[in-house]
Amino acid sequence: MTVQQQQATMPTVLVYEDDPGNPPLVNMPVPHPIPQLDTQPFPTAIAEAAPQPDSAGPGSEAFRYWVAADALSRASRTWGPLVPAGTQWHPMVGRALTAHLNAGDDLNAFYDRRGLWFFRRTVGGVTVAACESNEVVEHETGHAILDALRPQLFNAASAEAAALHEAFGDISALLSSLGLESLRIAVLAETQGDLELSSRVSRMAEQLGWAIRQGHPNAVDRDCLRNLSNSFFYRDPVELPPNGPANTLSSEPHSFSRVFSGAFLKVVAGIFRQQDLQDQAGLAAAAEIAGQLLVDAVVAAPVVSAYYAQVAGHMIAADQRRNGGKYGQSLRSAFIRHGILSLDAAASITEPELARRGAGMAEATPGGGDDEGLTAVTVHGATYGVTQALTLSAPAAERRFGIAGSDPAGGTLRPADPERVAASYLEDLFRRGRVHVPEEHRSDVAFSDDNPSRLKTHQITRSSTGEGLALVRKCFD
Ligand SMILES: [Zn+2]
Repeated sequence: MTVQQQQATMPTVLVYEDDPGNPPLVNMPVPHPIPQLDTQPFPTAIAEAAPQPDSAGPGSEAFRYWVAADALSRASRTWGPLVPAGTQWHPMVGRALTAHLNAGDDLNAFYDRRGLWFFRRTVGGVTVAACESNEVVEHETGHAILDALRPQLFNAASAEAAALHEAFGDISALLSSLGLESLRIAVLAETQGDLELSSRVSRMAEQLGWAIRQGHPNAVDRDCLRNLSNSFFYRDPVELPPNGPANTLSSEPHSFSRVFSGAFLKVVAGIFRQQDLQDQAGLAAAAEIAGQLLVDAVVAAPVVSAYYAQVAGHMIAADQRRNGGKYGQSLRSAFIRHGILSLDAAASITEPELARRGAGMAEATPGGGDDEGLTAVTVHGATYGVTQALTLSAPAAERRFGIAGSDPAGGTLRPADPERVAASYLEDLFRRGRVHVPEEHRSDVAFSDDNPSRLKTHQITRSSTGEGLALVRKCFD
């Protein structure tokens, strides 16, 4: 039997490769091998029963199941080879990460350490099921992967830490798309080899973005949910408004994530330009190299204020260790262009400095306690309409590299202290209506937002360690 004959007889399912597409345009479903979910080190499962793999088409439950299964399996294959040996899901997730494909009526999806939850809603006659977009599934799975690597980010009271989680989700979708030869060929044709340009792989969740745009015209990009091809320049998020239209930068984590994910797309583009051949195989290699450096960096970087700069610095350090600094210029250039590193900061990460700091980074291991390395900060509850003092897990004070982002006026920003970062984060959550405050913890002037359509990502609970109350995260959406 020839390879072609074998492929022809191998059972397949129809899937969208990245997203259903921007209505009324729809992407073409393509046949993929039946996805394997139970793969190490990131086994996944789907709560709903598996339908027959009989090439069901778009709009059917069977089709949605196979798109989600294909996406989960591709996430495991994208990240599995890049993470340190022994990495596993956060202990609360259990052995396999379970996806729930029909969790209720909403235009959203989230990860909450019990699994992945995908919602759906019919808008303008189009049923938009979040699980039917590979990019949405990969984004949510990305949250679970990063939670396995760096559980300290889950409760960290820091806009920048939360935004790095969102960036990692979109990068998960980008790398998953670039894992397919068909999409690599498509994006090279669409961008004529300049990966920095807007393309099918840089535009996240076109269909979900379209659905949100029908009710909230300014909440998302013109042609997708978010675009990694962007020019957003770093600002200290404590100085930014809590919300804003999609064409502005706010401290809202999805909005602020675009600074980092935008730089990451430029990193991939730069590494690709440095490959011997600018073909689809060169692009596969570039995506894998960039993904590896990111994994190395998030495992090693301390969770501090100006966290983006630390992750960027650790990517440069990882490149020095793994590749002898071959891609240092691509990395520095991308992070400087987005203001994540100031010129001073980028120039200060020298080879001797990296050699001096290198041992600690090489020894870093994934996982650990949820609050490890974070600083407990207590704030006055009355300011937030709650009855007692509130404890927050603020970013740590100790940084490995004394580096920070660009001041838009020139030079280097001075990172805000952990207390200010945490208080600003809490205030922004309340101003966005994202905190659930149980009745018994509300003061007379409580302003908890009870609109059930606004997903509560956080809640106030009794502190597990001592007196008073604590802010804990429920989920990443
Ligand atoms: Zn997210």
